[in-house]
Amino acid sequence: MNRTAAVPGVADGNGAEARAGSRRSERSPGAGAQGQAGATGATRRAPAVRRRTGLAYDPICLRHDPGRTHPERSARLTATMERLAREPWFAELVPVAAAPCPAERLEAVHAPDYIARAEEVCRSGGPYLDVPDVGVSRESFDVARIAAGAGLALADRVMAGEIDNGFSLARPPGHHAERSLALGFCVFNNAAILARYLQRRHGLEKVLILDWDVHHGNGTQHAFEEDPTVLYASLHQYPFYPGTGAASEEGIGRGTGATVNCPMPAGARDALYEEAFRARILPAIDRFKPDAVLLSAGFDAHAEDPLAAVELSTGCYRWMSERVLEAADRHAGGRVVSLLEGGYSLDALPECVAAHIECLAGADRDARAAGTLEAGDGLTKGNEEE
Ligand SMILES: [Zn+2]
Repeated sequence: MNRTAAVPGVADGNGAEARAGSRRSERSPGAGAQGQAGATGATRRAPAVRRRTGLAYDPICLRHDPGRTHPERSARLTATMERLAREPWFAELVPVAAAPCPAERLEAVHAPDYIARAEEVCRSGGPYLDVPDVGVSRESFDVARIAAGAGLALADRVMAGEIDNGFSLARPPGHHAERSLALGFCVFNNAAILARYLQRRHGLEKVLILDWDVHHGNGTQHAFEEDPTVLYASLHQYPFYPGTGAASEEGIGRGTGATVNCPMPAGARDALYEEAFRARILPAIDRFKPDAVLLSAGFDAHAEDPLAAVELSTGCYRWMSERVLEAADRHAGGRVVSLLEGGYSLDALPECVAAHIECLAGADRDARAAGTLEAGDGLTKGNEEE
């Protein structure tokens, strides 16, 4: 199985935009760190990574047990780590340790009585929080605080210029969690908490949350739908769980226009996602001009995923990752923090995460070898000029 090889529909027409987005003359916070990495890297053998990419992974995340037959299982992370460790660039990733998300950061998104209820239910052993599909075990509250804290740790390192971008390989996921309700395998809304943290702790004005999980991120949309300072953009199967995410949902009041929903039919393939990116997602990002880019990176729109009917290739995740990185370079000094959401195929998820991180790190050797991604070449050239 080689799903990462040439994806003609994805590669076609990609070059011009990739080249246009590859001018990296205004890189700011990561430039120093990247320069150091480059200098160090020059003394090593390949692989060359063009960016310093953080990886937040804490084995405590394996201890959240939603139930024996639950698809959101710890093997998602162990299979992914085993897959990543086989990559020649794996050693180049910067390990980032997560601390438990502080209460005040949780409370920026969640009601205090919800947080108290989550702790009480988890400590008593569950079996579930609020709804049966959010199975919890005794340690789930602590794990969920780490999952939320992982994003904050990555953001701190990005804002300090120590890394250019980062990926949080944590669970439980977050984008279905509402202010006062657990939902859809999610306890705390990791992406929403991180967006508020970047604004309040780091003083950023505008934050983009791009959500390509196959399910609509109802919790994230609701957290920001009246807020013009957080752009929430989602591609998702529709109609489908959780039921929200119609194209007509565009925000409320002052937030009107800062919610962009791209509903996708069952059976959608790469070409439809590309079209939505070009027609709606990228123009919306360019209008909004975010100061940081957050990704709710679920990989359950993959053709092999058992929970949904969108049929993306691994190459499409690679393509979308490159477009997001280009947009972040254009507007946000390259600042990207990507958070794992869904993805339930133990074959496809590790492949997709590997492809995604390879793009984040600028080490996408497979794509360049196959000649499918000219973005890689453009970035290499840009980097050499620095
Ligand atoms: Zn999902």
